[in-house]
Formats: sequence, structure tokens, C-alpha cells
Amino acid sequence: MNQHQTWSSFKTKIVKSILTDNLDETRRVLQQVPEELKLLADLVEKVQAQTLPLPLHKHSGPRFAISSVSYTCGVGCEMCWSGFSDKTRLFENYKNLSPSEFDDWGPWAEYGDEVMLVGLGETLDSPHIFDHLNKLRNKTTYLTTSGSTLTAKKAEKLIKSDLTHLSFSFDGETTAGHGSGDIDYSNLFWKNVTQLNALKDKLKASHPILRLQISVDLENLNQLQAIIEKAVAHDVREVELFYMIPSNKELFEKSVFSNYENSCEQIRKVLSYWLDKGLEISIYNRKELPEKPTSCHFADLLLIFNLDRYLPQPCCGPFKLPLETRSLTPDQYWNSFPFRYFRYLHANDGKEMVPSLCDSCWARDPNKFANSIKESFTSNKVSENLLPVYQNASTLKNQNKFSQAVEEFQRVINETKDSDLLGKSHFHIGEIELSQEHYENAFSHFREAIHYQFNHQMAFCYFYLLWVILDKNSLATNQE
Ligand code: SF4
Repeated sequence: MNQHQTWSSFKTKIVKSILTDNLDETRRVLQQVPEELKLLADLVEKVQAQTLPLPLHKHSGPRFAISSVSYTCGVGCEMCWSGFSDKTRLFENYKNLSPSEFDDWGPWAEYGDEVMLVGLGETLDSPHIFDHLNKLRNKTTYLTTSGSTLTAKKAEKLIKSDLTHLSFSFDGETTAGHGSGDIDYSNLFWKNVTQLNALKDKLKASHPILRLQISVDLENLNQLQAIIEKAVAHDVREVELFYMIPSNKELFEKSVFSNYENSCEQIRKVLSYWLDKGLEISIYNRKELPEKPTSCHFADLLLIFNLDRYLPQPCCGPFKLPLETRSLTPDQYWNSFPFRYFRYLHANDGKEMVPSLCDSCWARDPNKFANSIKESFTSNKVSENLLPVYQNASTLKNQNKFSQAVEEFQRVINETKDSDLLGKSHFHIGEIELSQEHYENAFSHFREAIHYQFNHQMAFCYFYLLWVILDKNSLATNQE
């Protein structure tokens, strides 16, 4: 093991022990304190009694444990965020989640109330998919597919595997979506759905319940009524609408964000029409498009395991957590401090600052999200590169020129919109305040650091310890 690996495994142990409330273990590991962790070690010494930060924000487990199972897809959607718009595989030699990888994930499948098997690619491409489903017979299960590769043989196996819900991703005829607007693709899709229903009848099976997920853009907005009518006629019981999220200017022009208000009106009409008819229909898990920010429905709902099997995401946004699942039980992980804090922030949305990623997220504030998407594709503003200022501030800090360093970090904070730079600058000011034993100031800066970089491990560790030392539980209780 080289020096970097030793330091990194040392740090991993410290982070894990603090964030899972095991300060005895932290003290044990910190017996040989490297210079880099002196501030942290001093702080641990100041913790007299082990008080748990935010103990009331423990939770019984996610409703959905979600895993990707396939890393190939031949549909080639222009809008694809997984990387299949111009290729059919993500890796040369890794095409799907293996049975043994699935078994490693087993405790998580058991921990979630329900289990969802999703992309990143086409789930039905995986030769192991029926093996996975076979191991989940005691659970409520969801499988997502484009439906384009749902042959009669696969359909029969899905029915016999006791799959409870089958979600089709299909968007009608739109050039950005599944099938690129090709009428033959649409015909094949509906033929496969019809075939599945015929097999269900033949096998006298009530499952899987059919669901439809539609990515809405400007091209299929006017088709929504017709698509949903056809879906209902094909025994689809639930419909979920999403926005097609553009990744480039061309897709932006096709997205609802280039004509947002008008699009919202149309979507609202579709929602209200079908809700009146008693259909289970939603957009981002809601029955209506909210005008104002509302608390996020996804906090505490799910945990998604993608390519990094040890670093799941708490929602389908690009949210990252500071702790790996490695060597932790699902319950230890799900109730570690970052999750309790995440829950606390979302439960107090409006009084507390939710993480910056959530601030303008579609799930919480669709209008702000629409504005930020529009701005990112239409604004010509070139922001100043503040990286050199940040680097200079870091050098000053290393030279113990603290007041000059704080001035420079503060300049970055005042002038940048880059979340990473904001998070790191607050973190460094926090460390300077900590070294001068200005604990309240340090606490505020670590809170800001986490706000901008929720996966900042050291900021989270300091924040945890200061929370205990400054007894912030009483403050949090007053908030609620
Ligand atoms: S607001 Fe968005 S980023 Fe935040 S938890 Fe909800 S879905 Fe994820």
C-alpha cells in the first residue's frame, strides 16, 4: 500500500465512523493522528457525551430499492442521458449486472419495500433478468423497458416470474424520443403490448400491471391525449409524465422549456382530464404541476444503485452522498447522519436551506428549473474564471496567512456560481475559523459547504462534531 492509499483508507475509516455515530471507533482510529487531521482530532476530544445529531430523523427504509441491470441498448434515443444516443453499449466488456453482483445487492433489495429494476440500458437485453426476478418473488417488483424487444417468449417469462409492474418508456412519435418518431417503431411497440395482454389472458394472469412513462417535449405535446387513450385501451393502468431534459441546444429547442408556459397549460389540461376519468396519472410523482416550490416527493422514497455499487443516489437527480455503503448494513447506511440531515432539510423546506442541487430541481420547483435550463441554453454571459483566485487563497491558507486567505475565498464566494468552488471556499474558511476556535462561525461555513457540495466528506465530519459540541439538536427541534 502506498502512502496515498494508506491516507485514503485512514480517512475512509474516520469519515465512516463519525457519520455513522461511532465516535469510539473514531478515537481508536485517531490514536495515530496524521498532521492533516489534527483539527478534527482536537474536535473529537471536545465531544464529551455521545449525543446523536437529529435522532428523530431516523427512518424505517426506502419504499423503492432501485438497481440498474443493463449497460447496452439499441434504441438510440437522441434524448438519452445514459449515453446511448450514438452507441449501443457503454463498455466493451461489461454489458449487464451479473447474478453475483445482484446477490451482493440482495440486502438492499430486501431492505426496500418494493424493488425496481431499471436501465441504464434496455433491461430486457440482460440475459440474467429472469434470474434476478426469480430472486425477488417475495417482493413487489417493477421493471422498466422500452418494450421494443419484448418478444412473446420474454413476455411469457415475465408473466411467469411474478413481476408485478411493467413500465414502458414510450413517447409517441417524436424525433428526440424512443424510436425517433418512426411509425414502424410505434407499431412494433403497440404490437408487443397487445401480444403481452393476449398472453396474460391466456395464462389467466392479472400481473404485471402495465404502466406507461412518457417523456414530454414540444413534438409529442399534442399527441398526449391520443397516446394515453391508446394506452388505456391497451389496459395501461398508470401513466407517468416526465419532461424531456435537454442536454444540448438542439434538444432544448425541442423541449417544453423553449415554450414553457404554454406547455404547462397543455400538460395541466391533460392531467386534469385523465384524473377526472380516474386514471392514475402523475408528473414527477405529483397529480398537478405546482406554481410554487413544494417539498420534494423523492426525499426518503428511494435509493438508486447504478454503476458505482457502493455509492447510491437518493433520487434520480445528479445528487451525490458523502458516504459509501461498503461494510455497512442497509439500516446503518440509511440512517447515517447525511441521510438524517437530508431528511431534516427537506422536512423543514422553507425554513432551512435545502441542498443547492435541490433548490432549482424539477421535483421541487419546476418553474425555477425551467428558467435555469432556459438560461443555460440562451444566455451569452461568460463568467469569470475564479479558479486561480481560489488556488491563490488555498496557498495563502497553507502559509497560515489566514486573513488574506479568507479575503480571497470570500471573493470567490461573492463572484462565482460554481457550486464546487462555493462549497470548497466555505470549507476552507470553516477550517480557518475552527483553528481559531470560532465554533459558531465554523459551523455556519461547514453548513454552507455542505449546502453546495453535499458529498463533501470532511465538511460533514466537522459539521457533525460541531453539531454535538454546540448542541444544535435543541435548535433543530425548535425549527420543527
Ligand atoms: S429536490 Fe431534486 S435533487 Fe433534491 S432530492 Fe428531490 S429529486 Fe433529488
